[in-house]
Amino acid sequence: MTIERIGVIGAGQMGNGIAHVMALAGYNVLMTDISQQALDSAMSKISQNMARQVGRGKVAEDDMERALKRIETTLTLQDLGQSDLVIEAATERESVKQAIFEDLIPHLKPETILTSNTSSISITRLASRTDRPEKFMGFHFMNPVPVMQLVELIRGIATDEKTFKDCRDVVERLGKTAASAEDFPAFIVNRILMPMINEAVYTLYEGVGSVDSIDKSMKLGANHPMGPLELADFIGLDTCLAIMNVLHDGLADTKYRPCPLLTKYVEAGWLGRKTQRGFYDYRGDTPKPTR
Ligand code: NAD
Repeated sequence: MTIERIGVIGAGQMGNGIAHVMALAGYNVLMTDISQQALDSAMSKISQNMARQVGRGKVAEDDMERALKRIETTLTLQDLGQSDLVIEAATERESVKQAIFEDLIPHLKPETILTSNTSSISITRLASRTDRPEKFMGFHFMNPVPVMQLVELIRGIATDEKTFKDCRDVVERLGKTAASAEDFPAFIVNRILMPMINEAVYTLYEGVGSVDSIDKSMKLGANHPMGPLELADFIGLDTCLAIMNVLHDGLADTKYRPCPLLTKYVEAGWLGRKTQRGFYDYRGDTPKPTR
């Protein structure tokens, strides 16, 4: 089977980026969400982001126009049944992902490869509840998808070699680089990155530094391109908390305890850039630290 039709589930910040890079690489994309508004804003984001790439001379105008025509949207999950490869990028909640797979599976072709862009949930467990654990794996893009070079490919315990190779070929056609990770909580990038972000929140919580001094310290003192709190806002504080909970539950080690201040921000609905407020307030001309 050659992979030509890609189904993308979830049109949030990751879903729209995945549709963007797939269409530019020549795949036909069908993207679904439970919200028409999410689908509309994903399409306008994709146009804006591609236009920016054209402006920078990274993408030809003709290629952009052709790519935009390759993306279609639907509110009906079952329409993705004819996809060769499905990438699920809905909200980071296991019950949400499980319900999506249950609803989709009866409509899928037997050969369709099913993948999840989850940042942290067990691929083996998600796969075990499908009819095709050998054709199921983790396809983990980094944010923002059009910019970041890496894709983590995560095999569940049952994933077969052909599925892995087919997914690696897709990553190559995207012009990106695959890193293979074993299926343990949060895989490689987030296993290392999230405890650092959580520690930055503890540093804030304990009053060791302000938002500004923590981010400045890591940018100028460790040469990180973004400070950890700025990065947390960019990722989404709900996603950061969900990943810390997966690490804490999955590895049963108190060193992964989510910082209570991170929980408090999430409870307040201050989820970072996507809600205009997180460790910074984005409602004015320049982001202002909230602590
Ligand atoms: P997001 O909140 O921006 O978007 C999630 C989208 O899923 C929303 O548009 C929502 O309407 C939709 N959705 C919810 N339930 C659905 C359903 N039943 N069917 C279809 N759509 C549904 O989240 P995001 O940041 O794009 O994250 C999506 C996934 O990607 C998560 O699993 C997350 O862990 C993973 N991820 C996120 C990042 C990041 O930096 N944000 C990086 C890598 C991976």
